Amino acid sequence: MSMTLAIVGRPNVGKSTLFNRLVGKRLALVDDQPGVTRDLREGEARLGDLRFTVIDTAGLEDATDDSLQGRMRRLTERAVDMADVCLFMIDARTGVTPTDEIFAEILRKRADHVILAANKGEGSAADAGVLEAFALGLGEPIRLSAEHGEGMNDLYTHLMPLADKMAKQAEDYAPVTDIELSEDDDEDEFATPAITAEKPLQVAVVGRPNAGKSTLINKILGEDRLLTGPEAGITRDAISLRTEWSGTPMRIFDTAGMRKKAKVQEKLEKLSVSDGLRAVKFAEVVVVLLDADIPFEQQDLRIADLAEREGRAVVVAVNKWDVEDNKQEKLRDLKEAFNRLLPQLRGAPLITVSAKTGRGLERLHDAILRAHDVWNRRVPTAALNRWLTGMLEQHPPPAPQGKRIKLRYMTQAKTRPPHFVVMCSHPDKTPDSYSRYLVNGLREDFDMPGTPIRLVLRGQG
Ligand code: GDP
Ligand code: GDP
Repeated sequence: MSMTLAIVGRPNVGKSTLFNRLVGKRLALVDDQPGVTRDLREGEARLGDLRFTVIDTAGLEDATDDSLQGRMRRLTERAVDMADVCLFMIDARTGVTPTDEIFAEILRKRADHVILAANKGEGSAADAGVLEAFALGLGEPIRLSAEHGEGMNDLYTHLMPLADKMAKQAEDYAPVTDIELSEDDDEDEFATPAITAEKPLQVAVVGRPNAGKSTLINKILGEDRLLTGPEAGITRDAISLRTEWSGTPMRIFDTAGMRKKAKVQEKLEKLSVSDGLRAVKFAEVVVVLLDADIPFEQQDLRIADLAEREGRAVVVAVNKWDVEDNKQEKLRDLKEAFNRLLPQLRGAPLITVSAKTGRGLERLHDAILRAHDVWNRRVPTAALNRWLTGMLEQHPPPAPQGKRIKLRYMTQAKTRPPHFVVMCSHPDKTPDSYSRYLVNGLREDFDMPGTPIRLVLRGQG
């Protein structure tokens, strides 16, 4: 028995959009008009390695004012009763409305597990709405963009322990989702869905077909699990495997399995790219595995760039180093090509390995841990501002039309990846080169290789 998730919320918040994204087929119609489709709809959802049933509670479009509340209530209650978990969606751009409050009330009374999602969360227009959502008393909202696929990783993190619990209850325990819930999580799940105490580090291994992904993962797992399927790898989806690598609990997302299924080359390329994309979304650290013989192919560059844009920590591993004759010269060439072709990943570690013999795997392990660490790093505000003063003195910002741009204050707003905000007199007049100067400085002076660094200049008006 698998978990059933109901997506509930008033019309037009984006339920069908999320449903479509999870189900992957265009079963539901989406349109700008409030509520075009409509009834309870059910589909088989996939999110990373999770499989569950999802119910969409559309079907409110014809409701006139009078009947709206009644119908909405009935439909929602029906969905809530059918579901193990409710995803209650609000529109973060609109903020919390009175109708949302009615939903919240129903859910507080009736649902076992509620996950609150503030959708349309892309961009700053959603900031206020996300904050408002806290006031619904349903715990911390997940900031989602169903349309752009943002926040899916968070959704996964919230659903995984619940899915695991449902599976356990049914004594139908999928080996891939072997997360332990601690005893006292049960009480809190209503407010804040359970999060595992010791979360495994989530790593994706991506790269072109034949780079050696399966070989590498098999070596890490120390057994022939991927290739021996059927349940383990031979599917079209990124699958994940829980393991302990040199004492570090990890969940490794593999993208190799689908290759075995693809028939024609063209299809293969397409599938492996989209599959790689999916794995990247769920990962904290992305290992871009290159074949030493044919490094930095288009496909490699694309996936590495994507990992950076998605804000993942990146480690580049060059495989098949065992058959390389001129190692030193090769390494120099690789580093040169890396800096030229992937300047956005400057400072990311480049590790040579042989998946076949196992050489270099310890260093790869350490690089992954370190990249993860850096990705999570928080720099204290005082240190940042001392540093900023020095940077400004060393190389003052330009003075367009004789007026010097002032950078006044700096703080780290977020981690995973590190995200800095600088208060600035004229953000739009500050050249990108100056932001790059600061980002490169941060990377060097605070020793942050292997992670994207975001820096935003913000005006003070
Ligand atoms: P439902 O009535 O709750 O099922 O909402 P729909 O899924 O039909 O979405 C309503 C409208 O919101 C559509 O125009 C969607 O394209 C739009 N929408 C859905 N998700 C997002 C999102 O994450 N961001 C933005 N900006 N628009 C979204
Ligand atoms: P995937 O498509 O990325 O999963 O690649 P595979 O793991 O299936 O490997 C493709 C081919 O490269 C196989 O023939 C492997 O034996 C070979 N291979 C993988 N890693 C190494 C390595 O470190 N050294 C050498 N010489 N061959 C390797």
